[in-house]
Amino acid sequence: MKISKYHLSTDILDEYDLPDKQILFSTRTGSSLLVDSHIYQNLLAGNFSSINEELIATLKDNLIIVDKNEDEFHTVVTENDENRESVDVLSMTIQPSANCQLGCYYCAQNHTKDYASEDIIEKYIERILFFLNSGKKYKGINITWYGGEPLTGLKSIKNTTERLLKICEERDLWYSASMVTNGLSLKGKLFQELVTQYKVRDFQITLDGLAESHDKRRYTKNNNNPTFDLIFKNIVDCTKTEAYQNKLGGITVRINIDKTNHSFVDPLLEYFVEKGINQYIGVSFAPIVNWGGNDAGKDSLTNEDFAKKEIDWLLYCFDNKIKFSSLLPKRIHYACMVERDDSEVYDAFGNIYTCWEFPYTDNYGGDEHKIGNLNNDYSTFDNNATLRNWSDVIKSGKTWCKECSHLPVCGGGCPKSWYEDTPACPEFKFNYKEKLILDYYLRESAKNEEIHISK
Ligand code: SF4
Ligand code: SF4
Repeated sequence: MKISKYHLSTDILDEYDLPDKQILFSTRTGSSLLVDSHIYQNLLAGNFSSINEELIATLKDNLIIVDKNEDEFHTVVTENDENRESVDVLSMTIQPSANCQLGCYYCAQNHTKDYASEDIIEKYIERILFFLNSGKKYKGINITWYGGEPLTGLKSIKNTTERLLKICEERDLWYSASMVTNGLSLKGKLFQELVTQYKVRDFQITLDGLAESHDKRRYTKNNNNPTFDLIFKNIVDCTKTEAYQNKLGGITVRINIDKTNHSFVDPLLEYFVEKGINQYIGVSFAPIVNWGGNDAGKDSLTNEDFAKKEIDWLLYCFDNKIKFSSLLPKRIHYACMVERDDSEVYDAFGNIYTCWEFPYTDNYGGDEHKIGNLNNDYSTFDNNATLRNWSDVIKSGKTWCKECSHLPVCGGGCPKSWYEDTPACPEFKFNYKEKLILDYYLRESAKNEEIHISK
């Protein structure tokens, strides 16, 4: 036996009223265990005989300890290869509009008033049918609507969805969709319609702090008009719809953060509480990074700073019943869509890419980064287009990931970021100790509502 290279541990938890205890986390199983510190020291020293059999069995089950001859990196990447292509949901990202009303400074897209035509929609459908007829057994179709601003291509969304719903009905497949939208046009009535008739279940809307901060970043392209008040009103109205109240659809507010607006995150979270929508929405915190070489990340917080602040924001969310994504990552078998041969991104012109940040940008929009164009014969497609071979890059050791204990839950972060020579390690790498403790207390508090989380 040996202790797995794919484990993480907290420091000793004396200051959290857990004297001589540590939490261990297996990134191979996504499970965490509270253990005595001396037991962890014995594990590190390979001194297994002093540990009782029952605990050894638990540690083995959770892959905290593994066979001493196991090449764990080989096991992990082999599992990834086997599982990646066995996913039985056909997932596509469609960017049906090249247009957007906003001129956010960190966006690298070139916006034009172009929308997916009837002919292009026909090509979307043909391509999706090509995959459905490929012989692989699918249970459902999942579409992510992305832009430009997808709602500026509403007609194309409705038209495409109607055709996909018919295909799903004929083939006994389930259908689901999500949308990344700026929220400017998402009135309550439209939310209700999109959720109930067009099966868009999850909406991601960005607010970069309160109006004072948001309006300096997310203003209209034409007149630099502010947008916070309108977007916020739309979010509130959406939460009052029947579809929202019946939990058929929901909104996550994404907050893009750097040095210039991190101090506006707390006031925004407090505003959610003041306006009574804290119990209805979810939030996600995202560092601003370069996009297509536009230097948007020049004011980024350091990974360590961001990770530290994220813990405080999460604590506030927990205390105020604002939903956030799971604290601890799960085992994943691919970093993102770029690694999946049957996951593609279509733009309004029929161009096909591997990554949703490629369309409409100067750096990645060109032919050299495309899989192809839906108007052309499929034999012309480059099935090894930019980023598709990400799993080979991981295996080659060109990034840090081959040696990293986070790989099974991280997958290597954002392949595009590494492609641009920027390490893509997620916040979890920098605040996992705090997240393990917070997760422990959240699970304890589910058993005992009196527990108070303190740092
Ligand atoms: S490569 Fe990065 S930006 Fe592109 S889809 Fe993957 S995670 Fe997103
Ligand atoms: S991206 Fe960073 S955290 Fe993720 S596996 Fe690679 S080195 Fe580790």
